[in-house]
Amino acid sequence: MANERKIRCDCGGLMEAKHARFEGFETKAMVCPKCSFTTLTKEQAHQYVKLKQMHRIVDAERRIIRIGNSMGFTLPDGLKEFGIKVGKRIRIEALGPDSFKVVIQNAI
Ligand SMILES: [Zn+2]
Repeated sequence: MANERKIRCDCGGLMEAKHARFEGFETKAMVCPKCSFTTLTKEQAHQYVKLKQMHRIVDAERRIIRIGNSMGFTLPDGLKEFGIKVGKRIRIEALGPDSFKVVIQNAI
């Protein structure tokens, strides 16, 4: 993890790295605790662009299909450019009765 430089806001507050809503997406950003001004560091902007591309590729309604004796759903091929491919390990976590998240495991 790269060291993040301290960035001072125009109002005098010291920007803090935290998850924030930036143009409709939840992403890591620098937020001023005093005036809520939000901006992105170069690294965060890079992450944000990837996040936006990911949303464009994966956000869609899909139908649950039968795979053998199990249920499954397909993932778009465009995810390959994010290193998400057949054989990759994922972890599924329930978020609520009608929602779960899929976390791509970094270790192969
Ligand atoms: Zn401020």
